[in-house]
Amino acid sequence: MAKNLEGVVCLNHPNTPAVARCAACGKPICADCMKTKNNITCCSDRCLVNAIESGAVVSDIMGRKQKSEAKGFVKMIIKLVVVLVILACLFGFKDKLMSLFHQAKDKTATLTEQAQGKVQEGINAIDKKGKDWDAKVRKKSTDDRMRIPD
Ligand SMILES: [Zn+2]
Ligand SMILES: [Zn+2]
Repeated sequence: MAKNLEGVVCLNHPNTPAVARCAACGKPICADCMKTKNNITCCSDRCLVNAIESGAVVSDIMGRKQKSEAKGFVKMIIKLVVVLVILACLFGFKDKLMSLFHQAKDKTATLTEQAQGKVQEGINAIDKKGKDWDAKVRKKSTDDRMRIPD
């Protein structure tokens, strides 16, 4: 700062070397002309107000930017957690799912066996009925034949 102001005089006092520049308009100013507030140095109260307001706006924008960045970060974390929970569930329930799958497979096999048994029973029943009927018919015909000599 001092190097930049080497040989530069105060805009209000041409015989006094400048020690700073106005934060708002950039005018070189001497120690007597400096208006300082909130670590901001200006040539006038008007510039000081402008500098503080623009500084406030800048910090507000920065704050908002940081807030939105924080929001994005939180969203990303939430997404990550959701993905992790899904993965954890998948891995945690993998064994359960596999056992359920095997149970379902066993059940299907049992049902298939039962169904086959039922079908076989049905076939046997039909077979038996057929045989009974056959036997009846034979018996009847035998009876008839036996009756013929009468
Ligand atoms: Zn100024
Ligand atoms: Zn001055």
